[in-house]
Amino acid sequence: MIDLHTHSNISDGTDSPRELILKAQSAGISVLALTDHDTTSGWQEACDSLTSGMDLVLGAEISCQAEGGISVHMLGLLFDSENQALQAELAKTRENRLSRMDRIIEKLNVAGIEITIADVMAQLSDGATLGRPHLADALIAKGHVNSREDAFTALLHNQSKYYVAHYSPTPEDAIRLIKAAGGVAVIAHPYASHRGRVITAESFRGLVDAGLDGIEVDHRDHSETEKASLLRVAYSYGLAITGASDYHGSGKINKLAENTTELRQWEKLELRANNRRVVRK
Ligand code: AMP
Ligand code: ZN
Ligand code: FE
Ligand code: FE
Repeated sequence: MIDLHTHSNISDGTDSPRELILKAQSAGISVLALTDHDTTSGWQEACDSLTSGMDLVLGAEISCQAEGGISVHMLGLLFDSENQALQAELAKTRENRLSRMDRIIEKLNVAGIEITIADVMAQLSDGATLGRPHLADALIAKGHVNSREDAFTALLHNQSKYYVAHYSPTPEDAIRLIKAAGGVAVIAHPYASHRGRVITAESFRGLVDAGLDGIEVDHRDHSETEKASLLRVAYSYGLAITGASDYHGSGKINKLAENTTELRQWEKLELRANNRRVVRK
């Protein structure tokens, strides 16, 4: 079982990198990618926690904004974490997430929903990337909502009047940064239309020109029709096809390896990195 998209509490998952690795190993996963939002801070603990039997793929899910403010998530896998240009861009996004959170909180306060930045920070693990799920957790702790799901449905979704975007690179720039750092770029859940506006089939041309390597097709947020459309795009450009859980611990219902990637597709992807960076013990 190959699962190429998971989160730990170094972003908005709830398991520590160590817990995630141990769970994945006992679930019999053969290849696991750690892809926290806009950070590589969990890589060391993940490596240290690995025992034999599983291949670890280090990565990150990079928040991007396409033309018209469309939110896109780009998985960067197997890149060199020492790459300064990529790290600078991730740092810029993380930094901007702080002032963005202040602005969302201000809007909620104006509407009479009492919540502070301290409430939100109390939900965040040390050094983790701040995101709306932490605000959701704070709203749960304050008794405003019952779950992350409820928080997003009622208040935090992308079309909400409380929504504020944060700085993020274009998907093309993110791909170029990942490739320049020697990694591979896989666009995450590109047609997850219930989250908000999504990119069109035509916009894949520019992504492929920038160096896109693969498309995450099998993801719980895609309908069968959306998967079929994405398969056509992947075939037409010769891109690798992946499936993954987007596991977030107890933060989402997604189960580890509920969607997986075929070995042949993974091998195709791995060959496109500029170095053999899979971690094995
Ligand atoms: P942000 O990166 O701060 O804009 O927050 C977006 C993140 O929130 C996504 O990457 C998901 O991990 C999470 N998310 C989005 N919708 C939901 C939901 N309905 N329930 C739980 N988590 C969600
Ligand atoms: Zn997330
Ligand atoms: Fe995502
Ligand atoms: Fe994700």
